Amino acid sequence: MSVLEVDVNDPDNLKRWSERLETASPQEVLRWAVERYSPKLMMATAFGAEGCVLLAMLSEIITDPAQIRLINLETGYQFQETLDLRERIHEKYGISVEYVRAQESVEEMERRFGGAIYGSDPDTCCRIRKIEPLKLVAEGYSAWITAIRRDQTHARKSAGIVQWDEKFQLAKVNPLANWTKRDVWQYVLDNDVPYNPLHDLGYPSVGCAPCTRSTNQGEDDRAGRWATIGKTECGLHTR
Ligand code: SF4
Repeated sequence: MSVLEVDVNDPDNLKRWSERLETASPQEVLRWAVERYSPKLMMATAFGAEGCVLLAMLSEIITDPAQIRLINLETGYQFQETLDLRERIHEKYGISVEYVRAQESVEEMERRFGGAIYGSDPDTCCRIRKIEPLKLVAEGYSAWITAIRRDQTHARKSAGIVQWDEKFQLAKVNPLANWTKRDVWQYVLDNDVPYNPLHDLGYPSVGCAPCTRSTNQGEDDRAGRWATIGKTECGLHTR
């Protein structure tokens, strides 16, 4: 079967492809995704080390920016270091990552709720600032690329290299699903990929500033995310 024969709406077909792509390199998976889905292909990145690796790889694969829409969900609560990294990526690779924002500004949302809600109701905050904007963007696309790895969280353990994403009604391509943290950082160092300086300051995983703290030695990499409330995912990668 050629890549062009994949039925994007058939989860079983995607499962078979996922099994076949399990031994492919991330670059081969990216090429497969670009060949199959462009220009109805998008990628959302929060500029974690994994996302930066994929952007570096994509810069060698795509020949026209129209082949893939690259977005960052700019919640209005991101670290300045994260926003700066977008510029550093652009300088190094010539790749532009577009900000996608919620319809409601942070100020409007906080006024409506009588203050910030990331502490009291983070699920609603993530829904408004991340999930709903991504759902709007996803309309009209056939697939999205993510930088998740299976060993990051319990919910990501069963991620396929490619799978059907029920929430966003897209094929979901996870080229780094079977990579380890060591694989990612080896690639970053070998290829001088720009990364968030917060990683060197004890933040292995960087999300929105109010919901991210540095971690202590021995703690899980994502222990600093929503640390006081037991939340582990913003909801983009859970059903
Ligand atoms: S990570 Fe925190 S600040 Fe960011 S959208 Fe979610 S709850 Fe809001």
